[in-house]
Amino acid sequence: YVNDRPYVASSFLTTAIAKVFSSALNGNCRDRPALVTTKIPLIAEIAMVASRGGEALIRRFFEPLGYEISLENQLFDEQFLEWGASPYYKITLSQTITVQALLTHLFVLLPVLDDNKHYYVSKDEIEKLLEKGGDWLKDHPAQSIITRRYLKYQTSYAKEAMMRLLGEEAAEIAEPSIEIEKEIEAQLSVHEMRLQTVLQKLKESGAQSVVDLGCGSGKLLRLLLQEKQFTKIVGMDVSYRSLEVAHSRLHLDNLAPKKRETINLIHGSLMYKDDRIAHFDAAVLVEVIEHLEENRLLALEKTVFAFAQPKTVIVTTPNAEYNVLFDGLTPGHFRHSDHRFEWTRAQFEAWGNRVATAYDYEVVYFPIGDVHPEYGSISQMGIFSLKN
Ligand code: SAH
Repeated sequence: YVNDRPYVASSFLTTAIAKVFSSALNGNCRDRPALVTTKIPLIAEIAMVASRGGEALIRRFFEPLGYEISLENQLFDEQFLEWGASPYYKITLSQTITVQALLTHLFVLLPVLDDNKHYYVSKDEIEKLLEKGGDWLKDHPAQSIITRRYLKYQTSYAKEAMMRLLGEEAAEIAEPSIEIEKEIEAQLSVHEMRLQTVLQKLKESGAQSVVDLGCGSGKLLRLLLQEKQFTKIVGMDVSYRSLEVAHSRLHLDNLAPKKRETINLIHGSLMYKDDRIAHFDAAVLVEVIEHLEENRLLALEKTVFAFAQPKTVIVTTPNAEYNVLFDGLTPGHFRHSDHRFEWTRAQFEAWGNRVATAYDYEVVYFPIGDVHPEYGSISQMGIFSLKN
């Protein structure tokens, strides 16, 4: 079992900072005490920052503290560009600042970006946060997300920390900003919501056999496996490595033999007709079409709608209009470095309507996520039903 823990800048790095630079972190310098308050042009380069919240969150945390930031997203693997961008960044922070301030910023913010929930947080962490963040966190616009994440979402701890940081009244007033933070937090789990929506629609369709086309690491398959309704589940992907990841994440080797029989992972491409994906009750393409060049969609349409011809097809794709609401996503840029296009609602519906007419399906569209009055929802879904 391999995870990113040994490789990323996490709470282990902050423990190391506290050990190696303990006097600097705590503002002690016996021989040259004047240095403690001297601002020095400093550059911190960190090779592997894990950011659950992407570039936008790194900027939201460090920019208000006065840093000049340069960021480089790390690809998962140069040989497999289709895996796309990772949550890992090489970051360089520059500022004329005291050594102590720089170290306290890193001490608090690196684990907060990483947001690893897999360890227990004791009440002592409140003291640590106030000691290291006390003087800058009280004016930081992202103070509530920082506090809550640092304290691992222990609401009562976070409340106490905010109260001690801001005073009782101010902490009450600060509450609304927690609402805004929630929005960002919700965006982080948008994929989870998308999968739940698709699962719901699959259940409603009455499907028993489902093929997940472009199944990736098998997140939807995992949900499907938990439902008795689905008696035949197939995941297909063009990336063999993704299938290996799915195989291990789904613990296929340890499933009870009866359960094991219900699921199959197959290596294949949506560019080619394939008997193995024909005659399913339902097929899903969750965030897949935008990974294909637009001129290859025609081949995909034929494979899925003309040849495999499932009774129901569910397609999800980002809604490009919503992108203006993302911090740090400049116009003309996609959410993901491997996306070949991102469509507006009108573009998606134009495509869906054409496909439905061409292959004798009916189609309806749904938003995924909260609907902004002007820009719609974060992601969009089309549900195609084969006409009798
Ligand atoms: N559905 C998954 C993965 C989405 S990422 C999820 O929601 O988590 C897009 C996936 O489509 C990747 O796993 C990629 O390998 C796969 N893919 C891209 N082109 C493909 C093709 N031509 N045939 C099959 N799968 C493809």
